[in-house]
Amino acid sequence: MGEHSQFGGSKAAQWLNCPGSVVNQSLLDYADDRSPEAAEGTKAHQVAELLYEGWTPPATLDPDMVAHGQRYVRGLRAIEALRGGVSWVEKRVVDPNNKAVYGTVDFINLSGRQLLIADYKYGEGDRVEVKVNPQLLTYSTVAIRDMALKPRTVTMAIYQPRGQNPGWRHWTVNADIIYEYGHRMDLAIKAVEDGSVETKAGPWCRYCSAKVKCRAFKEKHLDLIQRMKDGIHTLSTDEIGSILQSKPSIKKWLDAIDAYVKQTINLTRQPFHGFTAVQRVGRYEWLDAEHVQDALPLEQYPELYKRDLKTPKQVLELRPDLYDIIDQLYRQLRYTTLVKIKEE
Ligand code: SF4
Repeated sequence: MGEHSQFGGSKAAQWLNCPGSVVNQSLLDYADDRSPEAAEGTKAHQVAELLYEGWTPPATLDPDMVAHGQRYVRGLRAIEALRGGVSWVEKRVVDPNNKAVYGTVDFINLSGRQLLIADYKYGEGDRVEVKVNPQLLTYSTVAIRDMALKPRTVTMAIYQPRGQNPGWRHWTVNADIIYEYGHRMDLAIKAVEDGSVETKAGPWCRYCSAKVKCRAFKEKHLDLIQRMKDGIHTLSTDEIGSILQSKPSIKKWLDAIDAYVKQTINLTRQPFHGFTAVQRVGRYEWLDAEHVQDALPLEQYPELYKRDLKTPKQVLELRPDLYDIIDQLYRQLRYTTLVKIKEE
């Protein structure tokens, strides 16, 4: 919701917990580049919306994106078949109480007084939990207000086809929970509009573009990072736990600092504390891949197209009838990763 709204649903955890982040981001004097993941997510949503409308995707489109979109749409159709009622896809909504809160909800279904709000998460990073998810609570609040709905229950759903434990996740609550959340949202927005610059660092800093210059964020993490230089044994287990919690934010913080310094050097044409920016030659890329595909069609130039063998999982999904042939020809790799224990 609300890619350009300062109170966007995807950043709800941030502005609810840290009202000062809204002002800090607006004061930022460098452009926070849009990530390739965000652009990919936007495209995946467009593909899913078109698939819902019955569109036939061209063969040149990323087959994984199409397959995930088709599964998502099949899920939406199953929801509609089960619940009946009326549905909206990519529904634009504006909060009548706070006009700055607006955006597009991926899917809404209203069946009697039961509301369902679904969100398509294309990212393959962390698993996004549906329970007490500020983004979905914001979507639900704004949809209810804008569409003047009076639901008794609200089901929030996430479909995340990639990453850990892909699939659908649901959370159903009495609508009073949404109304209470809406009240909390109104208070947070009022605090920002009244000029609050209070900042509080936490996991919500991850997507805050102000962190490159944020004192609260720096104070929370820099001391620990500096002490890491003397060896991990100088940190307590609590401190290591705190670093683990903030790992995604710290990575993004370092990337943002990198981007900020490059941009500053570009603008001032001066070195920055002993660093300078060097242009290196990267890989070649098409200016407009779809245009090239029209000019050099697959049928005429098959040698120009990748024909890599698909992964075992893709083969099994595409052709389950080949299971007997490939059964002994693949293995599933195992690796160890750290995951956050779910808080009940
Ligand atoms: S980095 Fe964190 S503490 Fe700083 S403004 Fe952003 S959300 Fe607030």
